[in-house]
Amino acid sequence: MTILRILEFPDPKLRIKAIPIETVDDGLRVVIDNMFETMYAAPGIGLAATQVDFHKRLLVADVSVEKDDPHVLINPRILEKDGSKVSEEGCLSIPGYFDSVKRAETIRVSFLDRNGNQQEKDMEGLLAVCVQHEIDHLEGKLFVDYLSEAKRQKVRKKLHKQRRVQSDSSIMF
Ligand code: ZN
Repeated sequence: MTILRILEFPDPKLRIKAIPIETVDDGLRVVIDNMFETMYAAPGIGLAATQVDFHKRLLVADVSVEKDDPHVLINPRILEKDGSKVSEEGCLSIPGYFDSVKRAETIRVSFLDRNGNQQEKDMEGLLAVCVQHEIDHLEGKLFVDYLSEAKRQKVRKKLHKQRRVQSDSSIMF
């Protein structure tokens, strides 16, 4: 397996809208395995294909403490959203920066699994937050887009100054 390079804000490639995946094959499963390895090594709890410069609709996530609950979502689509919750988010593409973002509390998502089978799942808690964050990446959207322009400027400056500072937190997706 290979650890992939993660694109970092403000790389314009993070703004590319991912296209749907038509065939789930061994080639795609290699990408999925590499994304898991990259995510666990970072360490992070979620990773969208966009972040590793692969512009197709695919994301991986594992919000468990033991790192033994991997989720693969191909062509994910949110069917229903319910409630709202503010939580602290970070992003592997914006290292060292955290801020509060309001998202739906629970979601119902349809997707293809790693075998190409259609699935539908209800998600809540950190997994729901993470999957919404990753689906945003597939749309070319970053969590700092929810913040004010003044705050985004601050993020840009901060990243410029301290590129590649290792964060203690693993709540980065
Ligand atoms: Zn992210």
